[in-house]
Amino acid sequence: MIYSSYEEKKSEKTLWFRREKQPKEKIKNKKLQIPEGIWVRCKGCKEIIYKKEIERNYDLCPKCDYHFYINAKKRLSLLYDEGKYTAFDENMLATDPLKFRDRKKYKDRLKEYASITGLKDAILSTEGAIANKQVVICAMEFKFMGGSMASVVGEKIVRAIEKCIAGNIPFITVSCSGGARMQEGIFSLMQMAKTSGAIGKLNEAGIPFISILTDPTTGGVSASFAMLGDIIFSEPRALIGFAGERVIEQTIGQQLPPGFQRAEFLLEHGMIDMIVDRRKMRDTLITLLNFFDKSPQNTPLPQNQK
Ligand SMILES: [Zn+2]
Repeated sequence: MIYSSYEEKKSEKTLWFRREKQPKEKIKNKKLQIPEGIWVRCKGCKEIIYKKEIERNYDLCPKCDYHFYINAKKRLSLLYDEGKYTAFDENMLATDPLKFRDRKKYKDRLKEYASITGLKDAILSTEGAIANKQVVICAMEFKFMGGSMASVVGEKIVRAIEKCIAGNIPFITVSCSGGARMQEGIFSLMQMAKTSGAIGKLNEAGIPFISILTDPTTGGVSASFAMLGDIIFSEPRALIGFAGERVIEQTIGQQLPPGFQRAEFLLEHGMIDMIVDRRKMRDTLITLLNFFDKSPQNTPLPQNQK
């Protein structure tokens, strides 16, 4: 290329530099054009995975079996026969006894989370059948204020337990919670005693209670009904504990061992009974329900024929 003057050459040069920038911007724009949520970075193996592939695989990472979060409704549809169940106590609403307000009013927060999750509070009480056996399952919804337990969650669990006692139905919970809900203060903390008391009555009635822990099960939920199951099992690598790791380290002035508060660590230390892969969760429940079922039609061999 022949330049008529130095100035022209200089401007061409600047243009050339500008041109160099342009393709980069184009790439950036292209990246932005990819619709959000198609690819997901796995928290387990850090691989980037096609979201649909995860959804087809029970929301597990196809490379490392990392268990991604699933909502309460999806969870229940994986457990019940044909994914069908009936919800009850759906319209129970928190009353905001403290008239609590932080950056937002508690009442407004409740409305906001109700529109996100389609639930009125952080738990879904349901009844239905697993392998034709009647069960009641309460599944917690983490997307509703971190699955926090307050008056409604406590009351719904107690009512579900009363239903189980009245009908001699096994009780199952699926926990996914950050703990007690601070917006209801002491009323939230009281749910620990209330739900634990109800589990006591369930025990007295001789009705089995199976507690399933998912990532995370912490605070007031782990400190009450979730750890009171006749059988307690957890999904792999779920965080289970009471206080956060940093708080414990600061309190005891010691570094915690690796894997502390993970399901595998709890199993090793006898805090839970087993770790169950999400794909085997329903089959495991069927085995357990058969084991607990003392009705005559379930007994394979009468005592005198043994
Ligand atoms: Zn992975």
